[in-house]
Amino acid sequence: MIRIENVSKQFGEIKALNDVSCVVAPGEVLVIVGPSGSGKSTLLRTINGLETISSGRIVVDGVEVGAKATDMNKLRTSIGMVFQHFNLFSHKTALENIVMCQTVSLKRNRAEATAIGRDLLARVGIPDKADSYPSQLSGGQQQRVAIARSLAMHPKVMLFDEATSALDPETVSGVLQLMQELATEGMTMVVVTHEMGFAREAADRVIFMDQGEIQEEANPQVFFDAPKNERTIKFLSQIL
Ligand code: ADP
Ligand code: MG
Repeated sequence: MIRIENVSKQFGEIKALNDVSCVVAPGEVLVIVGPSGSGKSTLLRTINGLETISSGRIVVDGVEVGAKATDMNKLRTSIGMVFQHFNLFSHKTALENIVMCQTVSLKRNRAEATAIGRDLLARVGIPDKADSYPSQLSGGQQQRVAIARSLAMHPKVMLFDEATSALDPETVSGVLQLMQELATEGMTMVVVTHEMGFAREAADRVIFMDQGEIQEEANPQVFFDAPKNERTIKFLSQIL
């Protein structure tokens, strides 16, 4: 579903990504961990073209990201992205946030978009919050709206960048559980997180990044119980 080939990304002097290669199979859940500044967000952002790459190639479902012939708007609608901060429109209700993206980006008619929006609010566990404004919702509820908004586009891939990092501790587990459900339903997911419990439970594969490079890649059991790379061992010892 995703093929990342020898991708490097330079910000001036800073090498944010250095010759990164990896593939994500359809339905696979790839979890990326690593210290701050290691290039995790940059890697996610290159996948949907929010960030251009300095060299290499990224192909999502057969379409090359950033290629001249590629319709990037179309590609982006097939790649959902959920951020630490939810980026909801504050002057629109939860439902309206979900409806708007469909009518604007997919040209769905309002009735259909509204029906889909209501279904998705139920799907993410907040059917009663359709008419609430973001300021009236908890962080966890706002993140559920953001996830529902992404799902409304019927993405082929979902990217999560520290989706629970800004949440109150008591709402974190609910959002992680929702992400786990999406994984179980077969969504292809790339998840940057500091939640090692989630990584262990939900990941098919875990990647450890440091200094713009993939230092270690393993299934979660091997990754957490028998890491090989020295930096992975140090990282895990600091956070577990
Ligand atoms: P992470 O998500 O792992 O914390 P990032 O991908 O955000 O790391 O950043 C990787 C490196 O690239 C860091 O050194 C960061 O300062 C740098 N960087 C990220 N975005 C930019 C940018 N827009 N301009 C300049 N440097 C950036
Ligand atoms: Mg980041």
